Amino acid sequence: MRTITRPLLFTLIILLMNSSCKPGKEASVTDENFVYEIDRFDDIRVLRYRVPGFEELSLNQKQLIYYLSEAALCGRDILWDQNFRYNLVIRKTIEAIILTYNGERECDEFEAFMAYAKRVFFANGIHHHYSNEKFRPGFPQEYFDTLIANSDPAELPDFEGKDAEALSLFLKPVLFDDNLYYWRAFQSAGADMITSSANNFYDGVTQAEVEEYYAAVVNPSDPRPVEYGLNTRVVKSDGKVTEIPYRSGGLYGAAIDMIVMWLEKAGGVAENELQKKQIDLLVDYYKTGDLKKWDDYNVVWAGNTATMVDYINGFVETYADPMGMKATWEAIVNYKDIEATRRTEIISANAQWFEDNSPVDPRYRKEEVTGIAASVINIAMLGGDCYPASPLGINLPNSNWIRKEVGSKSVTLANISEAYDKASQGSGFLEEFAENDSETARAKKFGSQAGALHTDMHECIGHASGRLAPGTDPNALRNYASPLEEMRADLFALYYLPDPKVVELGLLPEEEAAMAAYDNYLRNGLLTQLVRIRPGRQIEQAHMRCRAAISRWVYEKGNPENIVEMINRDGKVYVKINDYRKLRVLFGQMLAEVQRIKSEGDFEAGMELIESYGIKVDPVLHNGILERYAKLDLAPYSGFVNPILTPVVDSRGRIKDIALDYVDDYTGQMIYYGRNYSFLTAVN
Ligand code: ZN
Repeated sequence: MRTITRPLLFTLIILLMNSSCKPGKEASVTDENFVYEIDRFDDIRVLRYRVPGFEELSLNQKQLIYYLSEAALCGRDILWDQNFRYNLVIRKTIEAIILTYNGERECDEFEAFMAYAKRVFFANGIHHHYSNEKFRPGFPQEYFDTLIANSDPAELPDFEGKDAEALSLFLKPVLFDDNLYYWRAFQSAGADMITSSANNFYDGVTQAEVEEYYAAVVNPSDPRPVEYGLNTRVVKSDGKVTEIPYRSGGLYGAAIDMIVMWLEKAGGVAENELQKKQIDLLVDYYKTGDLKKWDDYNVVWAGNTATMVDYINGFVETYADPMGMKATWEAIVNYKDIEATRRTEIISANAQWFEDNSPVDPRYRKEEVTGIAASVINIAMLGGDCYPASPLGINLPNSNWIRKEVGSKSVTLANISEAYDKASQGSGFLEEFAENDSETARAKKFGSQAGALHTDMHECIGHASGRLAPGTDPNALRNYASPLEEMRADLFALYYLPDPKVVELGLLPEEEAAMAAYDNYLRNGLLTQLVRIRPGRQIEQAHMRCRAAISRWVYEKGNPENIVEMINRDGKVYVKINDYRKLRVLFGQMLAEVQRIKSEGDFEAGMELIESYGIKVDPVLHNGILERYAKLDLAPYSGFVNPILTPVVDSRGRIKDIALDYVDDYTGQMIYYGRNYSFLTAVN
């Protein structure tokens, strides 16, 4: 078998939050005077999220959040090392310079260095978190020598015994040479995706060797396969391909031991027996690296929906690996948003109706949609691959058989969405790209609500829908699996948004709200998401490929009847939907086709769809969008700083409360994490 990638079932939605721009307000201030935006550099804005209702939680729940939050911060180094083998050396060097450089700081070069440092902190490494490309420092190479030579040598990282000069000599080409380690993950048809990627999941092996290795390891007839290769590095030792697991006493052991220590404390204040049991299983898995235990853990975790406080902690998502096998380390700590959870409960309660009435071939529908646990949560801490850039929705576990037999948990992140929304108010983005005033008004009135519902439906019923034909290899779609899976979920939501059932269930106030969602989707898929692409580049990211493929396909198919129009007015391109009902029919047709591709494992058709509609960028259109966008002076990417949680102890040293403080210093938080949550050596 050559098929070793697993389909990337669900996961995170990253939407351009362009739906809630209200004019006439300061960009970063809300009615409550909570400041959301605290920093901005390059294409990034850094926001704070509020932690509403934290005070009302019980002491026990607050303690649980605190311990889980410490566990969420302790794995930071792991992600850095996974992203690129020299990331930790570089970060530790940058930290040393920021803390001890004794030369002139009030100058352009130092400012350029700080801008570079902020970008590296944000991306958890030297490659852009979204585009995967290596950053180009805005200061000259020789200046890097100056910075290192004038920093405290005792603070510089211990890297193979190199002194300051040798360290500088080694790092300069790593940072400055575009021919070295340029792509963190490279996935072009025909290229060796492993040797041409700079990430650190594989060492000294080729794609062919890895494929051959896993073909021998994976048992395709196992009805309950583990997530093969999820938590290992593949290396060659004595000419033989082998795996080194991430675990206590193994690769990343020093950080994993700290995670385990905090998890054990969390287990002591668990909310119920099941939660205690699941934490014990997670600890067991971290200690052994045994993926069977990871499955055992996920079975209990997925089935435990009764607790107020929950978390994700582990090697979970495989987006960063072009082979779709190796997971980056991530963590979040969260608690339920009771009121908003009611909305997703309505969707889940009607999941079977949505499945039974979908335009999908009945053979590829699920006879019984099971275990969709949907809830709206608030984040108390982001860690690893969820920090600083956070997802807006999460649906886990990823294991197909667990999803089928036990179900999954699906969450939308309310306070993160709120921060995006509030920080975008008054940006002028919507006004620039909407085709007319009524579209703008509709977006302002319904955009947030319809967008939230789209996210909920995508996660709760979109990803959960459909089934494979008997005998279909679940890995057949390989590198196209991920965008196709996102398309399936998006199309399911798009198809149902204007359904009378949605208004009947009280999920939307009226059908016009769905029109706002359609406007937003096509405006984004055809136009505005291109602001995230640099000139001359193609679309790489799975969610963006998904949105482009859907939007361009319906545009093309609707062309004979002029269902969707691209209008060129005064040199500016706009999208106008002329027939919303017919557009819905097109979404339905595409949903049926994408589900067929997945159900039958039709690799050729999947490739054709993504390659034809999801990747290429029209340079003229692209330039026009970038120009309009540049005039607005906005940042296309957002990320977050975390609050600080501090135990308040009584005179006998017992915890009597957990204090929560908001921070407003992005670089300060990065340095603080570097000082207090770094447990790995410079190279691992
Ligand atoms: Zn998704």
